[in-house]
Formats: sequence, structure tokens, C-alpha cells
Amino acid sequence: MAMMAAKWRGRCRVCGCVLPQGAQIEWTKDTGARHVSAEACAEALASPATTELPLRGPGEEVPEDRARIERLLLGHPWRVAKSMPTIPHEYTLRRLWQNDGDFIWCVDHIRSVGYEQRFGGRIFVYYDIGEHQYFATDGNVRGPAGARTTVNLINRAALRAVSSPAVRRRPCP
Ligand SMILES: [Zn+2]
Repeated sequence: MAMMAAKWRGRCRVCGCVLPQGAQIEWTKDTGARHVSAEACAEALASPATTELPLRGPGEEVPEDRARIERLLLGHPWRVAKSMPTIPHEYTLRRLWQNDGDFIWCVDHIRSVGYEQRFGGRIFVYYDIGEHQYFATDGNVRGPAGARTTVNLINRAALRAVSSPAVRRRPCP
């Protein structure tokens, strides 16, 4: 993690607001830029000028990648998360995947072609298959196994209706 002045205009991964060029940010290679504190996020959220950056829509992908991620995600066991009963979702545990490279590939693919959506005041990258939107937790997918900062699971939740124009749903198969 590094504290620095933003070299170019970007977006805070915590609050989703614009980080103007030159703003003080915290940055890591894997998770990107964010405001330096919760106070800085609150300040940005209170100022409409910094919230204009639109959410990213889904990216292009080749049919082979689509088929691969469907096969991998649908082919692994999913557990109902009991820790957050008000936020129903399921998860698949990385350590139950026999091929760790497949797990890493899925997280990378979701992050590279997924679409952005707000949830609980933050922005996550989602990827839709069937009735679900899949998303990885924040963190470094190549970090030490089991570490809190390493991506140790992939989540999925029922698709939500969202009015954001950036979210273009794929047609149902
Ligand atoms: Zn922020």
C-alpha cells in the first residue's frame, strides 16, 4: 500500500467517488485507489461534483471464456451464508477447488469483464450467470492462502433490479 497524489483521474473503490488528479490517495497494485480515510470518503460523497463518474458496464468476452467460467462456477459447491441473514447470498470456498489456478482465473475474469454496481454504499464488480450475480471479495487473489487480505471465496446473490443505466443485463438464455 502506498500513499500518493493521484497521477490521473480515477475513482475511489470504497465510496465510488471521483478522485481528481493530484488528490491524496491510498493505492495498491491489486485493489487500486481509494481515499485516505473514511472522512475523506464522506466529504467526497457530500459533494455532487465528485460523484459523476459513471459505473462501468459489462465488458466484452469471447464465448470460450463465457463457457469456461459457467462451467467452473456452476461446477463447484455453493453454501448458504448464515452470517448475514439480511443479505442472502451463497459462497464457494477457494480451498474446496481442486485447481487453484481455475479459482484465480474466475476472479480475474469477473474483475476484468464484470460490471460495477453499488451495494451498501460501496461499488463491487459483478458477473451474471443465470439467476445469480457473482462477485469476489476485495483483496489480492494471489496473496498468501488463508490470509485475511487474500481472496478466499467467491460470492453469488440473486440478481437485483437496478435502475443504473450502466448495468445492461445480458438476455436470459
Ligand atoms: Zn472514497
